[in-house]
Amino acid sequence: MSQFTVLNPATEQAVTTLTQASAEDTDAAIGRAAAAQERWRAVAPGERAGLLRRFAAAVDSHVEELAGLEVAGSGHPVGQARWEAGHVRDVLLYYSATPERLIGKQIPVPGGLNVTFHEPVGMVGLIVPWNFPMPIFAWGMAPALAAGNTVVAKPAELTPLTAVRIGELALEAGLPEGVLQVLPGKGSVVGQRLVDHPAVRKIVFTGSTEVGSQVMAGCARHIKRVTLELGGKSANIVFADADLERAAATAPYAVFDNAGQDCCARSRILVQRSVLDRFMELFEPAVKGVAVGDPASPGTEMGPLISAAHRQHVAAYVPDGAPVAFRGSAPDGPGFWYPPTVLAPVGADDPAYTEEVFGPVVTVTPFDDEAEAVTIANDTPYGLSGSIFTSDVGRAIRVARAVETGNLSVNSHSSVRYWTPFGGFKQSGLGRELGPDAPDAFTETKNVFIATEP
Ligand code: NAD
Repeated sequence: MSQFTVLNPATEQAVTTLTQASAEDTDAAIGRAAAAQERWRAVAPGERAGLLRRFAAAVDSHVEELAGLEVAGSGHPVGQARWEAGHVRDVLLYYSATPERLIGKQIPVPGGLNVTFHEPVGMVGLIVPWNFPMPIFAWGMAPALAAGNTVVAKPAELTPLTAVRIGELALEAGLPEGVLQVLPGKGSVVGQRLVDHPAVRKIVFTGSTEVGSQVMAGCARHIKRVTLELGGKSANIVFADADLERAAATAPYAVFDNAGQDCCARSRILVQRSVLDRFMELFEPAVKGVAVGDPASPGTEMGPLISAAHRQHVAAYVPDGAPVAFRGSAPDGPGFWYPPTVLAPVGADDPAYTEEVFGPVVTVTPFDDEAEAVTIANDTPYGLSGSIFTSDVGRAIRVARAVETGNLSVNSHSSVRYWTPFGGFKQSGLGRELGPDAPDAFTETKNVFIATEP
C-alpha cells in the first residue's frame, strides 16, 4: 500500500498522510458501484432529488471545514476556498432539480407512437486535477448522480482532502453505499484502471491535454463515453475604444486567480497598439496591488503554487534575461511562492507566449486592428476561454464569434457559471459540462416504438 503525504504549499509542512488506492482497490470500488447502480437508478425521481438536496445541506453545514482543508492542502486563499465549498453546494442544488425533469419526447409516427427515454449511462469514472479540487469534482459528480449514475471519483494525488471529505458527507446525508466513492491514488494506477475497466461506461477527465489524449485513446478501446476538459492559452483582447481603467483593473484577476493555475487563465493580453503605453501604466499598479501571501488570512488574493516541482516548471518560463516588464510581490521563506509576473515585449516563439504556463505569468502583445487581434488570439492549439474589452457592441459580438474558444466574456473577466455551458474548442477539450443540458451527457437516449394498430 502506498502512502502519500499532503503538504501545505504555503508552509511546506505535512498536513496529513493518506493511503493511496491500488488497482485492486479500484476494481473493488467498481464492483460496489456496479452493485449500487441498479438500486440507484430505481430510486424514485423525487427521492433522488431529495437525497441530493440533503447532500447539498451537508456540504453547506461544512463549508468552513472544507475551506480549511483547501487552504491547508492546496494553498487556496480562504475567501476563494469558502466560495468553492459553497459552489459544491450550489451545483448539487442546481442538479437536484434534474431527476424529475429527465423528460423524453413523444414523436409522431404512423401505426403507433414513439417515445424516448433518458437512461443513465451507468458507472462514471471521474478524474480530477489539482487546481480546483472542489468545483471540478462537483461539476462531474452532481449531474452524473442526478441522472441516475454511480460515480467513482479519483482526486489528484496532490489535493485529495476535500473530495474525500465530500464523499463522507454524501454518506452522512443518506446517499446509499457505493453510489459515490472517492479513491485517492495515482493517475497511472487508479485513473488508468477507471479508463481500462469495461464496466466503467463513461470517463469525465479534467487535466492536461497530454494525459487527456491518452485517456481518450484508452476509452476508444471500449467505445467508452468521454468528456475532456483540458488545457488553455487564452487571450484577453483590449481594444483602443475600451474602458481602459476597467480592463487594466480586472486583467490581473483574469490570469493570477488561483496563482495562474487556472485552465481559463487569460495568459496572453493583446492590446491595440495605440493604447499600449496607457494600458501598461494602468496595469502596473493593478499587478503590484494583488495581495499575495498567507492563504489563511482573509485579505489574501493569491496564494502559493501547488508544489516545488510546479514552481520550477513555472520559473523556467522566466529565465535570466526574460523581458520582465514588472512584477508583483511574493513572500520569502518557506512555501512555493512565485510573484505575479508580466512579460513584454515577447517574441512569437517565446514558450511563455505559446505554451500553457499554469502559473502567474502573463505576456502582453500589441496588435493593430481587429483582424490581427483575432488572428493572434486563434494562433494556439487551445480554445478554452477569452475576454474582450471594447465599447463597440458590434465589434464585441464579431470578435466573440470569431475567436475559436468555448467561453468568452465581454467587458468582464468572468464567464464561468454553473448554469451556463462550459468546455473547450480545439485541444482544450471535448463535450460540455455545466448548464441545463449537462445531465443529458450522462444519459443514453432510448427510442421505443409502440404499435397501436390491431
Ligand atoms: P494531469 O493531466 O497531470 O492530471 C489530471 C488528473 O489525471 C489527475 O487526477 C491525475 O492523477 C490523472 N492522471 C494522470 N495520468 C493518468 C492516466 N494515465 N490515466 C488516467 N488518469 C491519469 O493534469 P494536472 O497537472 O493535474 O492539471 C493541470 C492541467 O489541467 C492543466 O493543463 C489545466 O489547464 C487542466 N485543467 C483543465 C480544466 C478545464 O476545465 N478545461 C480545468 C482545470 C484544469
